[in-house]
Amino acid sequence: MGKKKVKKQGKNWRKFWKLGIDEFNTQFLGVSKDGNLTATEGYHVYDLSRLAIKYGTPLQIVFPFIIEDRLKDLIGYFQAYMKIYGYKGKFYYHYPMKVNQNKEFILPILSEGGNLEVTSANELWIVKKLWEGEKFNSKIRVLCNGPKTDQYLDLIEELRGKGMNIIPIIEGWEEIDRLSKYKGDTGIRVDLDIKADTHWDKKFDRFGLSEKDVLSLGKMKNLKIMHYHLGSQIKTQKSILDGIKHAFSIYVQLQKIHPSLDTLDIGGGFGVPYEKKKFYTAKGVSSKMIKILKNLSDKAGIRHPNLAVEWGQYIVAPSQITIYKVISKKYIPKANAKAWYVIDGSFINDLKDTWTIHQRWHTIPLNNMHGPFKTVWFAGSTCDSDDKYTAGGNYILMPKIPEGEDQYVAFLDTGAYQDSLSSHHCLLSEPAKIIASDGMTQIIRKRETAESIGKLFGWNGEHK
Ligand SMILES: *Cc1c(COP(=O)(O)O)cnc(C)c1O
Repeated sequence: MGKKKVKKQGKNWRKFWKLGIDEFNTQFLGVSKDGNLTATEGYHVYDLSRLAIKYGTPLQIVFPFIIEDRLKDLIGYFQAYMKIYGYKGKFYYHYPMKVNQNKEFILPILSEGGNLEVTSANELWIVKKLWEGEKFNSKIRVLCNGPKTDQYLDLIEELRGKGMNIIPIIEGWEEIDRLSKYKGDTGIRVDLDIKADTHWDKKFDRFGLSEKDVLSLGKMKNLKIMHYHLGSQIKTQKSILDGIKHAFSIYVQLQKIHPSLDTLDIGGGFGVPYEKKKFYTAKGVSSKMIKILKNLSDKAGIRHPNLAVEWGQYIVAPSQITIYKVISKKYIPKANAKAWYVIDGSFINDLKDTWTIHQRWHTIPLNNMHGPFKTVWFAGSTCDSDDKYTAGGNYILMPKIPEGEDQYVAFLDTGAYQDSLSSHHCLLSEPAKIIASDGMTQIIRKRETAESIGKLFGWNGEHK
């Protein structure tokens, strides 16, 4: 962000903060006349600075309409390109629940016709609750990944028995025995022998069966899906497309052995432009994917596979914003930034990826967005020196705080993974959480009290 630009008057502040831009997933964000961050849902406008004052900080704001819009668009792209290219397979979106299991995320996904993917018996338990509450259209499909404990397998069998279209994905040799007798469809996970451009594609990984092992399996009558997952936040379109091409070469061979195989599930990994720099788009990638799959299957003379995608982060990250108040300023001598802004929350606790994978966030002020500015680093409120956000040692542009005013800061795109990874270092309270929907706001997770946190650590009131 150029410092020179900052001084200009009457500038386009929306553009300055990289808001209002589709490719950055900020199309719904803007700046009000008095310099506050706003979010727009149709004709409703939310003044986020006012919400921070009303509900207090730290605060998470969830926008279910963003989840719905993104999923509707994604399904729309694939269906449109399948039609345009004459592709005969079907498209299935499966939401990977591990990305965010909160109710306010799952319900909007379901309302747009998203299927589910679960990773554990406990996630499947939530699916069971929804099924028993008759909250599902019975057409929904549920894929079960992850290592299968007996409890997990029992629950899968139970739900299949109740009529659910539930498909366990074989993850290791131990599962083959039990799942070859499974009465419904199954899938298998292949550990593709290809490297993708992502933090998570490790040199040695433990997921699924090797290509060689998968191709040496005896015929399985109920094998429907070949699944792979290259890792999250894949950096380039090329990696995604190379993955599909390589996977297809295995799919063709596998289908000869198991004629029931009809679906290629490419897992998750579609990235989010967290840093608001040029990035590949879902529209572009979906078009290329369908073209590639059509050409390859026509050439191989097999029917076009159904296509399943499990892009989680892509759908939900932009739907949540995390907000803090600056509670202290500290001068930094000789660094890229001039001051620490200490916030009333914690990166280690609330935005764990800041700490574990050095996640970059688009960080913008919630008020005083017209400046004047200062270069800062952020520090969390725990006593840990790692509890900080420095944008990789660079700096973040924030307002100089006017005397006697509160300054708030927003971290964008926090809807993926952060909630289930969150923790209680120094027993700080988790952010309170509200949803903003149809012009109204509502608390869905109250701020934790000393007592409610104490209970998590066994302090139930009997201190003897
Ligand atoms: C984590 C995971 C996903 C979701 O990945 P994203 O990067 O969030 O899209 C999908 N499928 C499987 C099997 C996963 O482990």
